[in-house]
Parts: sequence; C-alpha cells; structure tokens
Amino acid sequence: MPTELNFYNTLTHRVETFAPIEPPRVLMYNCGPTVYDFAHIGNFRAFVFADVLRRFLEMVGYDVKQVMNITDVGHMTDDQLADGGGEDKMVAAAKRVKEAKKQGTLTTDQIDNPDDPYQVAKFYTNAFLEDARKLGLKIADEYPEHMPRATGFIAQMQRLISRLIDKGHAYESPAGGTVYFSVESFPEYGRLSGNTLDKLRGGAGGRVLDEHQAGKRHPADFLLWKADSSHVMKWESPWGVGYPGWHIECSAMSLAVLSKLAGQEVTTIDIHTGGEDNIFPHHECEIAQSCGSTGSSSFARLWMHTRFLLVEGQKMSKSKGNFYTVRDVLEGKATGRPVDPAVLRYELLRSHYRSNMNFTAKGLEDSAGAVAKLRDYTQRWEQEVNGQSVEVDPQHPMLADFTRALSDDLSISGGIGALFTWAAGKHPDPAQSLAALRAVDGVLGVLGSASAPTDDSAELCRQLDAARAAKDFAKADAIRRQLQDAGYEVMTTKAGTTAKKKLA
Ligand SMILES: [Zn+2]
Repeated sequence: MPTELNFYNTLTHRVETFAPIEPPRVLMYNCGPTVYDFAHIGNFRAFVFADVLRRFLEMVGYDVKQVMNITDVGHMTDDQLADGGGEDKMVAAAKRVKEAKKQGTLTTDQIDNPDDPYQVAKFYTNAFLEDARKLGLKIADEYPEHMPRATGFIAQMQRLISRLIDKGHAYESPAGGTVYFSVESFPEYGRLSGNTLDKLRGGAGGRVLDEHQAGKRHPADFLLWKADSSHVMKWESPWGVGYPGWHIECSAMSLAVLSKLAGQEVTTIDIHTGGEDNIFPHHECEIAQSCGSTGSSSFARLWMHTRFLLVEGQKMSKSKGNFYTVRDVLEGKATGRPVDPAVLRYELLRSHYRSNMNFTAKGLEDSAGAVAKLRDYTQRWEQEVNGQSVEVDPQHPMLADFTRALSDDLSISGGIGALFTWAAGKHPDPAQSLAALRAVDGVLGVLGSASAPTDDSAELCRQLDAARAAKDFAKADAIRRQLQDAGYEVMTTKAGTTAKKKLA
C-alpha cells in the first residue's frame, strides 16, 4: 500500500501505523443497531464514522470486508452493566409500540401484534436499513450477507459457549441453566478499558453479595447464557431454555461472518469499531470470549471508538426533549424544517470521531451550506465539461492533501478544509476538477445521495468513472450493469467511459 495510514488504537492508547494482517484485505466489524426502536443520531454518528473509514480505506486501495451486526434478540435495559438487569428491551418495545399506535404517533401495518418480538424487530430492522440507505451507508446494500441478525446465529453462540466451558473460561451457575464467563480465567481482562479485576472488585461494593447469590464466582463475571423459559425470545440449549447474553452475539457473528467473507477461518480481525460506551463492558467482554475460545492472543488488532454526541451542548435524553432519531431530523422535528439526508450525513461526519460531537441547529445550517456549495461546483463543472469524463489524476494536489489529512487518524476537518480551499480557487481543467471532486465524494458520500437516481447515461458514466477513480470497483460494475440493462453499450477508455444506446 502506497499510503501510510495512522490511527489511534483504544487498546494501546496510541496512534499506530495501520498494518492489516493480509493486505490489501481488511476485515472490519462494527457493532450495529439494536432493533427495538428507531436509531437515533448518536447511533448514526458511529455508523457514519464506520462508513467513512471503510470508504477511505477503499479509496487508498484496500479491499474492505465490512460486517455490522443487527441485535434483534431481546436483552435487558441495563446491558451496560456487565451482568445486565433492568427491564427486557423487547417487552419495553412492545409497550412502547402499543402506546405509539394508540396515540397515532406510529402508523404502520407491519406490526399487527406488538407482543410478537420478531415482528417488532423486523419492522425496526427495515426502518434502520431505510435510514442507513438515505444516509449513504454502503453496508446497507450488503444486507443481509454482511449484516447478520443475532437470532440467526444462536447455534454459533452456543458452540462458542460450550467451547468456553470446555476450556475453563466459563461455568454453569450452581442452580443450573445460566452460564457465566469467568473473568479470573482471563488475565488480560481489563486491558482495553482499564477496568482490571482489582478495580472492579473494589468498586462493586454492596453488590457482591447479590451476585454471589446468583451463583457467580466473581462479581465481574458476565452472562453468556441466561436460563429463562418465560422470555419473549427463547431457545433450547445444552443448559436449558433461555437466551444468549448480549456480548456473546458479537463474538460469534464477527468471527463467523468475517471468516466466511475471507474464505478462511480467521481468529483475528483487523478493525473493530463502536461507540465509546461500548468499550466497557461490551468490547472488553468480546475480547475475553473471542480470545478465550480461539486461543488467539488478539481478537481485533485495531479498536476505534467514536465519542458521544451532544445536542446543543447537552446529553441527549428523552426526558430533556432533545432526543432525536434520524427520522426526527430528516422530517424537521429538530429544526422546524425538513433536512436533506446528505446534509445530516455531512453534519455527522465533519467533526473528528475522537471528539464529542455537538449537534446544533446552527451546525446543521452550516452543513447545508457546505453541501450546497459542493453541489454548485459539481453542477458548474459538469456544464463546462459537457459530458466529457476523465480518470482522476492520482497525483492531483487536492486529492493528495485530502488523503494526507485522513491518513492522520482520519482528520476529516483537515480533508474538508483542503477540499474547500482548492474548490474556491482557479480551475483551468474542469474535467479533472470534477473527477477529483467525485473521488473525494467517494469518501464523503454527499453528492451521490444528493441527486435523485437518473437514467441519464452521461451522468451514469461520470459516476462510473468516479467509482473507478475511488477504486470502488463493485460500484463501477453495478453502474456498468445498470447501463447495460438499460440497453447501452458501455466503453471505458483512458479518456473515460462512454455509453451508446444499442440499436435493437
Ligand atoms: Zn457488539
């Protein structure tokens, strides 16, 4: 790989040179949505980040296999605690859906029985995919192959749990039916989050007694399988009827699906991402389970986490009335007027992933201005070049500046700064300028989602060239097929792609 990339690794607390195990292949796993409700803009900040990371890696020549899970198993509302607890999210969702249907705030005929968790999960999975497509997430077009649902991987989770029991990393509670991971069996526990066992035991305080009553050997031991024959989603298992813990889902799906996509059994992946609230206990537990079962010393080489999203400087919460789903924002509930999905995408990606993001009406306005400017440049140059299309010069100075900025721990503001400074300058070669802008938009993804799909062949040829320039050959092939299906003969030469309507 010609470009040296440096990313901050949560695991080692430092910026490291990116070195995938088998370049140009990159195996990446992103913790995805839970589908009991519409996704909010904080969730989507992490998803858009993962998409930008993927697109950038592809732009510099990597072949990214991206997997993002869908959590459709009912879990407890207190999953952020290592041992769960609280109310079951599926039960809570059923209540909420019933209430929303009664109030008329949710009108759908896709859920005729809110007590059926599969129906509820399916509805919100579709809603998520719709949001994800609007916001230009490439992974949404790879559903379901790259977006496994937890309910489809129960057997793999059970195999993983059995292996952990065999290896002495897990045990069944004395009362039976419930299986815990033994954190004391895994000396590396706490390395990612800094929550080492001595700290956890010290901090557990009065809760220790309760947990021992539940049959745990150590207060930080976490749930792998929960005995519960009354749960809304339950499965047979070697330990009795129940359901899997939340953390085991990601350990099972990441290695299973990425192994399949890699065409070989993998025990270590290149990148794992999530929101900072996933670091503990979720990702700490994933490492313990994955390494514990495979015996590998490393589960994911690079851990990247996005910081929180604030709304007008405040933590987003339903009680404060500043809680926004993606739909709320697009429909205008946050700002009083509808928002273009490309503008929301731009707003979510333009601040550095390791800083808290402050979502504001003013910020959204600025993003709308920025997207409008990029569209203006595109339109102007398109008119000037009049259908002529060229391959982007890989040495293009703006492209080089943009790449350099993003190579530095994904400094998006540096990249965007380089883009706008260049765009405002002189452009003696509009065809080349257009190609460079399209190449950068291969990462930003705001121009493509901005314009409605067109059957105009010249426009499709330009998109095809931009995709090739961004080394997005899958997209280029898709556009080529689209043109061919529409009856065009497609030719790509050094000067670019042209399409000629075939005579019947
Ligand atoms: Zn996860």
